[in-house]
Amino acid sequence: MIYNVDKETLPREDMEALQLRRLKDLCERVYARVPFYKKKFDEAGITPADIRSLNDLQYLPFTEKQDLRNHYPYGMFAVPKENIVRLHASSGTTGRATVVGYTQRDLDIWAECIARSLMMAGATRRDIIHNAYGYGLFTGGLGVHFGAEKLGATVVPVSGGATRRQISLLKDFGPTVICCTPSYMIFLHETAREMGIDFRELPLKIGVFGAEPWTDEMRRDIEAKTGITAVNIYGLSEVMGPGVSMECHEAQCGMHIYEDHFLPEIIDPSNGKAMGPGETGELVFTTLTKEGIPLIRYRTKDLSSLNYTPCICGRSTVRMDRIKGRSDDMLIIRGVNVFPSQIESLLLETAGLTPHYQIIVRREGPLDTMEVQVEVDEKMFSDAIKNLQHRERELQKNIKEFLGVTASVKLVEPQSIERSVGKAKRVIDQRGE
Ligand code: AMP
Ligand code: ZN
Repeated sequence: MIYNVDKETLPREDMEALQLRRLKDLCERVYARVPFYKKKFDEAGITPADIRSLNDLQYLPFTEKQDLRNHYPYGMFAVPKENIVRLHASSGTTGRATVVGYTQRDLDIWAECIARSLMMAGATRRDIIHNAYGYGLFTGGLGVHFGAEKLGATVVPVSGGATRRQISLLKDFGPTVICCTPSYMIFLHETAREMGIDFRELPLKIGVFGAEPWTDEMRRDIEAKTGITAVNIYGLSEVMGPGVSMECHEAQCGMHIYEDHFLPEIIDPSNGKAMGPGETGELVFTTLTKEGIPLIRYRTKDLSSLNYTPCICGRSTVRMDRIKGRSDDMLIIRGVNVFPSQIESLLLETAGLTPHYQIIVRREGPLDTMEVQVEVDEKMFSDAIKNLQHRERELQKNIKEFLGVTASVKLVEPQSIERSVGKAKRVIDQRGE
């Protein structure tokens, strides 16, 4: 089922006409109300009246996370503060936090984007939704919450943490949909097993997972262990929060972007030039309708590609590929580029290994080295040492063969890597120490 048939199945020409109208309006608004953009437009020698086609987007300036930091907290807002009804802030793990503000209309649109997403995952108003994304300044919890209510479903606002209690609630309340990070889902499954509860016997049928990078191998692993259909949801607080794009359960192949609100581009991160459909580069979004903190050509640092081919679900909106990594998460080990997701794919293909892993990067002399620590499952752990060593060598060989980089692999005992209730920390960088 499609939540907003009108917008989600618009023919391409109509979508582009709508986007152009909204883009012109956006340029007028930011030029008049945000000094940062007025200055940027003036420096580039353009005015909002110069935007005559979507192709003119390329002449507009980019916006970066640093610009938001430089104008912390309210300098990029485009409406008077009394019109802002909610603030959120991003975690600030890579520097000072960034603050985003929403008008009531922004929140209504966000709720609709989530309602569209939940329906795209296969949910309806008859479902009970266990929402284990963190509630608070992080956009995940409250974002999903109001969208679930808008859909008319029953939402259980459980937030992250108190994991054993969550298992009891999953059993007692019988939710059919769960929303959380994929790494937390694996933690939940593991905790349920310890408590003697089999996920496959719960009424749960759909998992809406996102907020962190994960692979298709991880999806299959979760689906096999829990018997649910796992779909990918994407978003970022600067652009809105979760629900910028969502994967349909029919195809499970790329996330449909709500193009009537977010205009996507893929650029070459090294020079800012546009890249074509199917080419992998940095995802850039222009927020066509946002009022509180509208952004022009926001550089997400997330690497993906765009697919305009028709989808079996009947939606006409463009699909973005699963995030391959963030350009600032890319490790360069002795000149070879490696993303944590590539390691994840390989380790999930090795028998006896679990999705609990960490990559430790150290500097030894002039060179960077990488150690991959992976937990083995209970069965593997009870095996003879020589079998463990065999698995270590197998993964090490695959990393060398498929990624072209030498890594040392260390298999560690079950439960030894710290669990996260939100975004998992995959890379420990000890180079600066
Ligand atoms: P935040 O601003 O805290 O919501 O974090 C947003 C970032 O989380 C994005 O820029 C992505 O790097 C990451 N992210 C969110 N959803 C996904 C997803 N489905 N797959 C991969 N990364 C994601
Ligand atoms: Zn689809």
